[in-house]
Amino acid sequence: MTLLTGRKALVTGGARGIGAAVAERFAREGAQGFVLDLEPALAEARSPEGWTGVPVDLRDDGDTARAFGFVADGNAPLDVLVAAAGIVPPWRDVAQLDLDEWDRVFAVNARGVAATLRHAAPLLAPGAAVVVIASLNAWRGDPNLMAYVASKHAALGIVRSAALDLGRRGIRVNGVAPGPIATDALLERMRARERERGIAASDALAQAAKATALGRIATADEVAAAALFLASDLASAITGHLLPVDGGIA
Ligand code: NAD
Repeated sequence: MTLLTGRKALVTGGARGIGAAVAERFAREGAQGFVLDLEPALAEARSPEGWTGVPVDLRDDGDTARAFGFVADGNAPLDVLVAAAGIVPPWRDVAQLDLDEWDRVFAVNARGVAATLRHAAPLLAPGAAVVVIASLNAWRGDPNLMAYVASKHAALGIVRSAALDLGRRGIRVNGVAPGPIATDALLERMRARERERGIAASDALAQAAKATALGRIATADEVAAAALFLASDLASAITGHLLPVDGGIA
């Protein structure tokens, strides 16, 4: 018996990175369901066997409604929802803040997560579990990352509020708070910074590893394992919380 046998799951941002690791792990645990992601990302990815890729742009509420309408049509209710879609802007300090970029980050990381919950809420089965992929930046600041940090603080507010709204239906809402994870997205940003500012990606990764108790950064598979725990019945009395997966960052 696996932890999600017979469960219907949906993972936003599941075409690559942490979301893809979550969908793959959930599939191995017996879940079937949907990967929602931008069309180009889905075109480059392969959803786990028995899972359906559904294109969506979570910045667009009409498109999000259409995608969730497709998911609802003729299917059993959702047992597990994971909101992993997110974007990280380039590093820049407060004096360089770009407010258009701020809006783009919030459109996905805050508004997009809220829209995901809004459209998923009527489809969630009693006893369902929601996991938001937030960040340590949901409560910690970091230099040169104000827009991202603020958007992840919003994710914490969404988790806490949705847990209260949905709790009496037996639906739990939690988040995972990863530290740095060497996904393609992070490595691409680090390489861009290396080209622009000469901060070597290898040095940045070594520094991140040194800042942890374990002396290494966590992996996408380890984030997926934490999401699995929160999505499963093992976490049946846990709601409204974020679980750090960071190798131990004080
Ligand atoms: P990623 O870029 O590999 O994956 C993000 C996915 O979200 C992509 O598949 C992308 O296409 C999708 N997405 C982006 N905008 C979308 C939109 N408008 N509509 C639908 N889908 C959209 O990034 P990742 O590193 O795997 O990060 C995944 C999540 O984990 C994000 O929420 C990120 O903030 C969070 N996180 C990442 C790290 C890290 O170090 N990698 C650390 C903490 C938190």
